[in-house]
Amino acid sequence: MSASQRVLPLLPLRGILVFPFMVIHLDVGREKSVRAIEEAMIRDRFIFLATQKDAQTDDPGPSDIYQMGTVAEVKQLLKLPGGTIRVLVEGAARARVVRYLATDPYFRVHVEQYPEVHVKTAEVEALMRSLVHHFEQYVKLSKRIPPETVVSIVNLDDPGRLADVIAAHLSLRIEDKQAILEAVNITERLEKLCAIVVRELEIVELERRINIRVRKQMEKTQKEYYLREQMKAIQKELGEKEDRTAEAEEYREKIAAAGLPPEVAEKALKEVEKLEKMPPMAAEATVVRNYLDWLIALPWSNSTEDRLDIKAAEAILEEDHYGLHKVKERILEYLAIRQLAPHMKGPILCFIGPPGVGKTSLGKSIARALGRKFVRISLGGVRDEAEIRGHRRTYVGALPGRIIQGMRQAGSKNPVFLLDEIDKMSTDFRGDPASALLEVLDPEQNVGFSDHYIEVPFDLSQVMFITTANVQHTIPRALFDRMEVIYISGYTEEEKVQIALRHLIPKQLKEHGLNEEMLKISEGAVRRIIREYTRESGVRNLERQIATICRKTAKDIVGGRYQRAKVSAGNINYYLGTPRFRYGMAEKEDETGVATGLAWTEVGGDTLAVEVGLCPGKGQLTLTGKMGEVMKESAQAAYSYVRSRARQLGIPEDFHERWDIHIHIPEGAIPKDGPSAGIAMATALASALTGRKVRHEVAMTGEITLRGRVLPVGGIKEKVLAAHRAGIKKVILPIENRKDLEEIPRNVKGKIEFVFVDHMDQVLAFALRERELAPEELAAVPPVPPVPVQMPAYCPLPEEQGTRIPS
Ligand code: ADP
Repeated sequence: MSASQRVLPLLPLRGILVFPFMVIHLDVGREKSVRAIEEAMIRDRFIFLATQKDAQTDDPGPSDIYQMGTVAEVKQLLKLPGGTIRVLVEGAARARVVRYLATDPYFRVHVEQYPEVHVKTAEVEALMRSLVHHFEQYVKLSKRIPPETVVSIVNLDDPGRLADVIAAHLSLRIEDKQAILEAVNITERLEKLCAIVVRELEIVELERRINIRVRKQMEKTQKEYYLREQMKAIQKELGEKEDRTAEAEEYREKIAAAGLPPEVAEKALKEVEKLEKMPPMAAEATVVRNYLDWLIALPWSNSTEDRLDIKAAEAILEEDHYGLHKVKERILEYLAIRQLAPHMKGPILCFIGPPGVGKTSLGKSIARALGRKFVRISLGGVRDEAEIRGHRRTYVGALPGRIIQGMRQAGSKNPVFLLDEIDKMSTDFRGDPASALLEVLDPEQNVGFSDHYIEVPFDLSQVMFITTANVQHTIPRALFDRMEVIYISGYTEEEKVQIALRHLIPKQLKEHGLNEEMLKISEGAVRRIIREYTRESGVRNLERQIATICRKTAKDIVGGRYQRAKVSAGNINYYLGTPRFRYGMAEKEDETGVATGLAWTEVGGDTLAVEVGLCPGKGQLTLTGKMGEVMKESAQAAYSYVRSRARQLGIPEDFHERWDIHIHIPEGAIPKDGPSAGIAMATALASALTGRKVRHEVAMTGEITLRGRVLPVGGIKEKVLAAHRAGIKKVILPIENRKDLEEIPRNVKGKIEFVFVDHMDQVLAFALRERELAPEELAAVPPVPPVPVQMPAYCPLPEEQGTRIPS
C-alpha cells in the first residue's frame, strides 16, 4: 500500500468524526475554520477533517487535534445568516498529518493519504460476517438505527468500507471512533470494531433489561396511581369522602358523650384516627368500627340508683315468690349488710338447687328490689376461657367475652349479674374458664377486668354477681370458696299448688293475652297436673303445662269454639292428653325381690325401684342400670351382708354357689350413684332369697356397711318430698338423719310414717313380710321354721310423728 502526499487546509471538528464515504452536513462557525473552507473552495474543494481531542477547546493548537483524519470533498456550501457556513462533505480517504505548514489564518497541513486496499482473505470474511451479525443484533436491540440501514450495509462487499460505515452509524465515544479511524490495516480495523460492537451489544442488552425493569415498576406505580385516582373520583362521585370525615366526626361526638374514662377515650380517639385514614371499604375499617361501637356502647359511667329500702325489697320478694321463707330472709340479710357497709366487698351469692325452683327468678327479683338492671348469662357448657374473656381483635369475627357482652346488654355499670349453671362449666386445652371467672368475681381484681377484645380494663366492682348451680360438687373449688351458698330444695305438692295458683297461672294468662274471665284452672286441675303430668322438684314443667292449656284455650277462643274455659280435674285430659305419670309410683302390691329406694339427683329427689333376680348359676353378681362406682360397691356390701346373715334369714348357706344374682335399677338411662340405695338393695336381695315379700308402701334410704350398720345419707328433704310425690306412706331412714326432718314441711311430715334404724336387721324386720308358703310347699314337707329374726318392739315418737326401733 503506498501513501500519497498532499497539502490541504485542515478543518478541526468538535465532537464529531467523519469516516471515508460518509456524507455529512457540518456547520462551520469559527473564523479559522471558515477560512479553511474558503481556501479549499478556491483550490480543489478537498479539505482535511480532523477531530479535536477535546470538544470544549475553542481555539485548538496542533497538539489538540488528532493526527489521523479524513480527506473529504466539499460537495455543497451554504452561507447561513450570522456568518456561519453549512457545508456538505463526503469523506474520501484516511490521511495522517505529517506536518503543520501554517496555523494562521487557517491550519494548513501536509498529509499522508492512505488508499483503501481491497483484500479479502478468509479471516477478513469471517470477521466481516461476525461484525455484520453483531451489528444486526445491535440494531434490533438498540432501535436507534433504522433497520433499512442494515439492509444496505449487509450488501457492502468492501471490508474497509463496511467497517467504516458501521462505525459511523454506531453512537460511540470519539476515542473509539478515532481508534477505528486510525486502524489502517483492514484486519485490525475489523477486529477492533467487532470488539466494540460486542461491547456495545452487551451495554444495549443491559440497558434493555434495566429499561424493562424500570418500565415494569413504572407501570405498577402508574397503575396504582391511576386506580387510586379513579377510586378517589368514584368516592367523590358517591360523596364518600365526606362520609368518612362525617363518620369520624360522629364517632368523636359519641366518644365525647359516652363519658369514657380518659385513657379509654384516648384509645378510642386513636382508633378513630386510624379509621379516618383507611379506605372505607377496607375489611380492617369494619373491625375498627365494631371495636369503637363496643367501646362506646359499654356502660363506663352509667349507673342506676339503688333502692335502699329493705321493707320495699321484702315486699317485692314476697310479691314475686311464694314460700322460700328462709331463702328470702337470707337475701334480705345480705342486702341489709350491703346497705350498711356499701364498700364492703361481700361474698357472691350462690343459689344451689334443682331446676325450676326459682333460682333465676329470685335473681330477677333481687334486681327489681334494688332497682337495678338485670342480666343473665349461662355458663353451661362453657369450656373456653375466651368465652369469658373474649378473643383478641386480630381474630376474624372476634367479639368480647360474655361478661362484657352482659355489661353492654345491662347498660349500667351496677347491674345484678346472674351467672347461671356455674357447675356446668368445664375445663380443657382451650384454657380454664373458671380462673377467668375467678378474676371476674374477685373484688380485689375486678376493678380492672381485662377482656381480650376490649383491651382496656373495665370496672366490674359495682356489679352484684349472683351465681346458680344444680349441684355443689362440680363447682370449681376456688370459686365455691368465694361464694355464700343458699340451698333451695324442691317444693312440696302443696307449695306447687300455691305457686301455680298465685304466680304461674296469672303470669301465663297474661303472656297469652287471656284473663281470668276467659280461663279458669281449678285447684283440682293443678293438683292433677302436678301428680300426673309432671315429676320434678321445681315448677318448670308445671309452668309449661299451664302454658299448654293457655295456648289451647287461646286457639279455641279465637277459633270460636267457646268464649270461656274452665279447666278442672275432670276435663284436664282434653287439654293435656293422657297423663304421663302414674301417681303413687309405689308398688300397688307386695312383691318379692323389689324394694323402693330413695335417691337424690341433680334434678331433685326421686324414687328408685331396686329389683333383684335369681337364676341358677355359680354365685355371680351382675349389676345393671347405669350404677356409679360408689353404688356398685354399695351393692357388693349389701350382698356380703346378706351372705353373712344367710342362716338367720333362713337362706340356704350355699346359695351363693347355686344362684346367680342380678341387681337392676330401672330407668337405666339416668346415671345413678352414691351409697344411699344400700339398704334398699340389701332388702330386695334378702326378699328374693327368702321369698318374703317387701311391703309395697315402704321406701328407704341409707348406706349399709358389711356388718349391716346403717349410716346416714344426704338430701333427706328432697328424698322425702319425692317419696311423698310418689304416694309412699312409710319411709325408713338412718337414725342419724332424724335431725334432717326439721326441714320437711309439716303437711308432708304428717302424711308419712318415719321409721328410724341403725341396723339392717331392723330394716328387714320392718320391710319384709313373713314368708308365705305355697300350698304345695306346705303339703310336701312340714317346713323347718326359719331361725326367727327378733322383731324389735315399735316405739313411736309422737313429736316426730315417726317410729323408732331401738337396736
Ligand atoms: P331455676 O332458675 O331454678 O331453674 P326459674 O327461676 O327458671 O328456675 O323458675 C322457673 C319458673 O318457676 C319461673 O317462671 C319462676 O317464676 C317460677 N317459680 C319458681 N319458684 C317460684 C316461687 N317460689 N314462686 C313463684 N314462682 C316461682
